[in-house]
Amino acid sequence: DFKTVGFIGLGAMGKPMLEHLANKLPATSQIWVYDVVKSIVDEVCAAYPDKLHKATSPADVAEHSETILTMVPEGSHVRAVYLDPTTGICSTNITSKLLIDCSTIDTATNLTVKSHIQSSSPSTSFYDAPVSGGVVGAIAGTLAIFLGCADSDPNLPRLTLLLATFSGEIIPCGAPSLGLAAKLSNNYLSGIIAIAASEAFDMGMRAGLDPRVLARVYAAGTAQNAICDRFCPVPGVVEGAPSSGGWKRGFKVELMKKDFGLAVEMAGRVGAGNVLGSVGLETYEGAARDPRCRGLDSRVVYRYLGGRED
Ligand code: NAD
Repeated sequence: DFKTVGFIGLGAMGKPMLEHLANKLPATSQIWVYDVVKSIVDEVCAAYPDKLHKATSPADVAEHSETILTMVPEGSHVRAVYLDPTTGICSTNITSKLLIDCSTIDTATNLTVKSHIQSSSPSTSFYDAPVSGGVVGAIAGTLAIFLGCADSDPNLPRLTLLLATFSGEIIPCGAPSLGLAAKLSNNYLSGIIAIAASEAFDMGMRAGLDPRVLARVYAAGTAQNAICDRFCPVPGVVEGAPSSGGWKRGFKVELMKKDFGLAVEMAGRVGAGNVLGSVGLETYEGAARDPRCRGLDSRVVYRYLGGRED
């Protein structure tokens, strides 16, 4: 299986995911690769001359590949990659192919692409498989994957075999587009926790507490959470947290703004209340515009909200 694989989108996440595929798929597998930035394709293909092949468009990838993974920034890019009438994957014969989109986008675009694929080729499978774990997880090959399918999906064993090359945990979320719904609700929660943690730390510190004592208090108390334990927004509290390295590595505030916005939009569409949505979105939009914060890890929201850094 996986004799011919395609990979589209070689950014911060896609490139290390592709490298795991190239390292772990059997020697007989051949992988066709495309990105709008040609120099990245040249670079990665040069590193694996026996396994990777340059493609000139998503359609070119699809001409050669039975299984295709995509990892592009937003819904508009996913639309272009799959549905462009001349260069898109669906402009080729996609009968019986396995198509997997790992991008974090809105559920509506995912379902539009799926219904297009299903109406032109009922034997073709298309899955949403957004990932969590950041660039660090992509490089380590330990990403969590939220799959838009049921536990009983007949393709699950094949998907697991393929996705396990770069993931630590694969969670089938029940049905098409629910992998994305899971990812967006996760990022909504983690984005809100980062804001709440920033404010909680700052009020405690201004009241006279050492932030390391506060971190122990939260970890032992009812506020225990992964943001404070592993991604503490206050610099110098948790070794290895993005804040302790000037927020340089991690999950960019622009991506949090995008995902948070998609979550708020989803909440509106499904009729869920979210009183924290507007304040969260305003905060991440502001941080993404702020020259002291933009381009940095999203937990830089601590700085944006005026947290003490001395
Ligand atoms: P990125 O901007 O680093 O990379 C995206 C790549 O897609 C770029 O190389 C770009 O040239 C390419 N691209 C754009 N449009 C294209 C098109 N039409 N055809 C082919 N290639 C195209 O982004 P990233 O950080 O790798 O993120 C990709 C996706 O993964 C996003 O949806 C993001 O939200 C999600 N994600 C990112 C992280 C993270 O920490 N960076 C974590 C989890 C999920």
